[in-house]
Amino acid sequence: MAGKRIYLSPPHMTGNEKKYINEAFESNWVAPLGPNVDRFEKELASYVGLEDAVAVSSGTAAIHLSLVLLGIKPEDKVFCSTLTFVATANPIIYMGATPVFIDSEPETWNISPQALLRALREAEKNNALPKAVIVVNLYGQSAKMKEIMEICENYNIPVIEDSAESLGSSYLGKKSGTFGKFGIYSFNGNKIITTSGGGMLVSKDIDALKEARNLAAQARDPVPYYLHSKIGYNYRMSNILAGIGRAQLANLDQRIEEKRDVFNRYKDELSNIEGIDFLPELQNTISNRWLTVAAINKEKLKIQPAQIIEALEEENIEARHIWKPLHTQPIFKGYEYYTHSEGCSVSEKLFDCGICLPSGSCMTVSEQDRVIDILKLKLK
Ligand SMILES: *Cc1c(COP(=O)(O)O)cnc(C)c1O
Repeated sequence: MAGKRIYLSPPHMTGNEKKYINEAFESNWVAPLGPNVDRFEKELASYVGLEDAVAVSSGTAAIHLSLVLLGIKPEDKVFCSTLTFVATANPIIYMGATPVFIDSEPETWNISPQALLRALREAEKNNALPKAVIVVNLYGQSAKMKEIMEICENYNIPVIEDSAESLGSSYLGKKSGTFGKFGIYSFNGNKIITTSGGGMLVSKDIDALKEARNLAAQARDPVPYYLHSKIGYNYRMSNILAGIGRAQLANLDQRIEEKRDVFNRYKDELSNIEGIDFLPELQNTISNRWLTVAAINKEKLKIQPAQIIEALEEENIEARHIWKPLHTQPIFKGYEYYTHSEGCSVSEKLFDCGICLPSGSCMTVSEQDRVIDILKLKLK
């Protein structure tokens, strides 16, 4: 009989969450505002080295608000990493705008600076430059932000950093999510820290965050009665959930250590097998290693990611395919797509050979051994 289920990345509570939840109950701050929300915002902002942040109901809501704040209109284009979760691009559609998908580069699996540059040059020629670029930092690994920011600054196009998966990671000594005009984090149940569901919007632009706070609370004008001169949203985070977030955030650095330990054990045990390549860590970056991901050489190992996932599932272990590139999704059929180089779609190749291994920060060594033993058996 298979052992206890091993999940991909389950929530990992510290025990202190209840203290903050109780405080909220005792003070009757059971609302989408309150002291836990205020403090969670300040604590997260300070953790990533910024002054302020806005706690919202999801990472997706934070991306949506960034696009609203940038004034994206239905006739606008927004460039977006293709290799990512669908939530990165859906808000472009909410705005009625048009996504243009950009391929990955092989080193970080994130947006390819050369594909981005090619797309921008062509857009410039056609007088159709995008109003924003959404850059994703996949699985904790930062994209090549220096190159990307240089390119985008040259064209004067704001960057939204989808750091839903890279909270706590750093790039050239700065926290992931703080490079663009806006950064967003997610506290969904499977992320490195969770509020069960929630998100955060960050920026250096304090006025924009003030505006975000208003938009996320139905955009009420500052008068003593209910006056509305713009469309708002109900996107604020609950004071109860922010309490969970505060306790989780206090343990984030420890979670990163644990995730990195998980990654290193996989790598130590398996990287001598020819044909398995773990997502490298870009120089001068520290990845939170949210998920351990690897590329499987199907010819060498004579096995497909799907077969590995199935073999693990038989032993009650959850593994997954990597994100399916958005330009290959039925909902995004027909939108423009720029490959890394002529005729070479890196993201499609990665999808074909990529696998996410269980990477819970609470996974025990013996649980991880169960996974490793099956992989050794299947990959020889
Ligand atoms: C999880 C995730 C999101 C969405 O966050 P939610 O809080 O679930 O809305 C967006 N982008 C990426 C890359 C994600 O992994």
